[in-house]
Amino acid sequence: MKNKKIDLFIILGIVVITFIAIYSIQNKDKYIKSYIKQQLSFFQTPIPFIHKIQYFYDRAIIFYLNNDKKNAILNLEISQSFIASYNLNEMKKAENIINQTIKNIKNNKKFNYLLYQKKLYTTLTSIVHNYYVKSQNMINTLNKYIQNSDETNKMLQIAIFLFAVVAVLSYILYIMKESFKYSSFKDPLTNANNRRSFFEDIKNLPLETHTLVMADIDFFKQINDTYGHDMGDYVLQEFVKLIRENIRKEDRIYRWGGEEFVILFKNMNAYQANKKIEKIRQIIENHDFNGIKMTASFGIKEITGKPTNEDLKIMDNALYISKEKGRNRITVLD
Ligand code: GH3
Ligand code: MG
Ligand code: MG
Repeated sequence: MKNKKIDLFIILGIVVITFIAIYSIQNKDKYIKSYIKQQLSFFQTPIPFIHKIQYFYDRAIIFYLNNDKKNAILNLEISQSFIASYNLNEMKKAENIINQTIKNIKNNKKFNYLLYQKKLYTTLTSIVHNYYVKSQNMINTLNKYIQNSDETNKMLQIAIFLFAVVAVLSYILYIMKESFKYSSFKDPLTNANNRRSFFEDIKNLPLETHTLVMADIDFFKQINDTYGHDMGDYVLQEFVKLIRENIRKEDRIYRWGGEEFVILFKNMNAYQANKKIEKIRQIIENHDFNGIKMTASFGIKEITGKPTNEDLKIMDNALYISKEKGRNRITVLD
């Protein structure tokens, strides 16, 4: 019997793995995207910084022109602290200009402050420009990369999705095929194996001693006639159930026809099978089938490997002899 829980688990597994795969592809470029955002914010920050550098430098010059050296130097130092906090290599040039200004003021050296101011402005502007170009190039490249990878990711997601659909459908088809195979080998009323299944099974019987038993319910027609067809069906089901409970896992029971069944005992000789069947015969004889008492007759034939037609005929004859001798008994034939 196929395990439906395992089937469900496998299908669920495919679905979950597919979702995880599609989701992780979706988030694959998350870090690159956040890196680009970071780049953009870096690009935006130098401008206010540079304005501050310029602002304090200009204030310093005004103090210098008013002969307030102390405040001039203080403002230059504030201007420098912005450079230091920004920590950009290109800023070294601007820092040197401010250093030179401080030195000149400290040493009372005359200097062309307009030229220094212009130099600082040009340096800062070129830094902004360089930085702008660099950032823009980087952002363009990364954007292009993201665009390309977005396309590949989408294709990959579609491929995974289609693959999963095919996998699930194939698996469902496989389950359907298996269950069809299963039901095509089963008797729907008693759930015993059917006659077709018997001829499939004996194909692979190893060349060893096995035993075939034919079982037939005695006076079954009377049960139908007296208690109705439904009761007859119930007796058949109960009969199979009782036999199933008393044979091994590797043994098989087949519904041969109406109320005729064949039992296959694997790797068992007629003597051992006879003992088992005698026990089953007694169990049936003593069983209460919903208020009905009934018996069954049996015919036994030992076989070696796959049974021949002759073997089946002998098994049938053995059953016939049991019926002839008065039913509710077992006959073993060689
Ligand atoms: P004997 O002891 O000689 O075997 O007599 P019997 O009445 O058991 O044998 P017989 O072959 O005369 O009758 C078998 C009956 O089984 C006839 C048929 O209507 C009945 N039968 C066959 N298949 C089914 C079934 O699926 N359900 C029911 N309720 N009856 C069935
Ligand atoms: Mg019968
Ligand atoms: Mg019969």
